[in-house]
Amino acid sequence: MIEDTINELITYARFHLFLKEFDALYFRNVLLGELNLSKPSTTPVDLKKIQNMRVPDSLLANIKEYLLTHENKNELEANLLLTKIMGLLTPNPSTVVDRFNKLEVESNRKALDYLYNLSIKNNYVAKTQIDKNLVWVTDYPDKNLEVSINLSKPEKSNKDIAKLISKSVSTEEKYPKCLLCLENLGFYGNDHHPARENIRIIPVKLGNEEWYLQYSPYGYFYMHCIVFAKEHSNMVIDRDTFVRLADFVDRFPSFFVGSNADLPIVGGSILNHQHFQGGEHLLPVMKQKPIKEYILNKYKDIRLYKLDWYNTCLLLESKNRETLITVANQILVGWRNYKDELNQIYGFDVDGRHNTITPSIRKDGDTYYLYLILRNNKCTPHYPDGIFHAHSEYHMIKKEGIGIIEAMGLFILPARLVRQANEIKDCLAKDYNDTNIIQNYPDLDAFIPMIHDLEKKYDKNTIDKDIREYINGVCKNILINTAVFKDTDVGHMGLDRFIGGLNLWF
Ligand SMILES: [Zn+2]
Repeated sequence: MIEDTINELITYARFHLFLKEFDALYFRNVLLGELNLSKPSTTPVDLKKIQNMRVPDSLLANIKEYLLTHENKNELEANLLLTKIMGLLTPNPSTVVDRFNKLEVESNRKALDYLYNLSIKNNYVAKTQIDKNLVWVTDYPDKNLEVSINLSKPEKSNKDIAKLISKSVSTEEKYPKCLLCLENLGFYGNDHHPARENIRIIPVKLGNEEWYLQYSPYGYFYMHCIVFAKEHSNMVIDRDTFVRLADFVDRFPSFFVGSNADLPIVGGSILNHQHFQGGEHLLPVMKQKPIKEYILNKYKDIRLYKLDWYNTCLLLESKNRETLITVANQILVGWRNYKDELNQIYGFDVDGRHNTITPSIRKDGDTYYLYLILRNNKCTPHYPDGIFHAHSEYHMIKKEGIGIIEAMGLFILPARLVRQANEIKDCLAKDYNDTNIIQNYPDLDAFIPMIHDLEKKYDKNTIDKDIREYINGVCKNILINTAVFKDTDVGHMGLDRFIGGLNLWF
């Protein structure tokens, strides 16, 4: 009976969402009202079962089923109401902030755990869906990648993302203006903007500005968080970015935090609202060793390395925050307009700015590690999607911008690949020729070279592994595509020339 589920959900909120006993009766009546029910069930609740629940999914599924079948709601209306209900049962935003701040006095880790667990328990972080994602690590001897097929988020193309920036006029009319605006807090939701009654956020001062911390609803790694600016304004990478990143890890040293670049193609999916991403996870590049050190005469308390990585990643290591920010800014300023024809790098031309940096920072004890990935988004007739973007032969695996998470070695691949992998297996098992492949599976068109490659050593016992390894190889090649200074003599000399020309030496 649905009335039993209401009692169970109230009990769930008592155990897992800090609902106080005196408020339980109140919210039970509110929920009965929301579902047009006249009185509660008197059947006792199985307390042990509810106490052991990790997520509320089964209870929400019951209520949704009821809304669809008895209340004549459609899918969207039912989902919106469920989020509203979970928002009602979650402590209100200021209570969460107070609790977070109190816990932070004991330890910032405890405070972060509190918000994370609350965000899972109130169904804001879609834990069940996240756990369904396919995740693996490559077995390359020196530079491993992490790969995840994301079964919970739609694919966006670079053209869609560019449109979002150019559409600033219509964005003005939207409310909330974007997915990262502060005004999402408590928003009811509609068919083009998700419900956010159950989001809870924590104010954080970064570089004397008001920013907010929240967890990602579809986290890509453990405690994946998003830190966003109070104002809706375009992504900018400048000296202030390094200050804000350092402020964040000073307050939350167990997390790394980084920013997407501020240009399309090399940035993330949201360029119109300043934000960072972070979490308690070492991304693959953070495990890499330096392959070269540049000794800076002018700054004795900092070390500058080139990392052994597929793209061009510099690492600054220092205990001195001021030096770290100064040197990072010198590299950024030097890079912005840098031109190197031999390496096809044009920082600026008639189309505008092309050079930028994807920065991220972590702390170990009192040492800062600041990673600067040099990026360029220039397109040419030969590379219409970007010289340093995934080249077209790899777009069947990934065509979205290569943002911070991928550039640092964690690939988030689209859900369609699961279906397409099964279709590829079918084509191989039936030994289809190109015509058969396209007739049966039109969107495997771009996979034909991959199918021919797999055909050469086809073995139905190892095919799953072979497909996975093929995907790994594509991810690796995409990262190599994004390297502005390639792993060649011309590339090595180019990087040395760039660093040698910076204002870091005397
Ligand atoms: Zn916004």
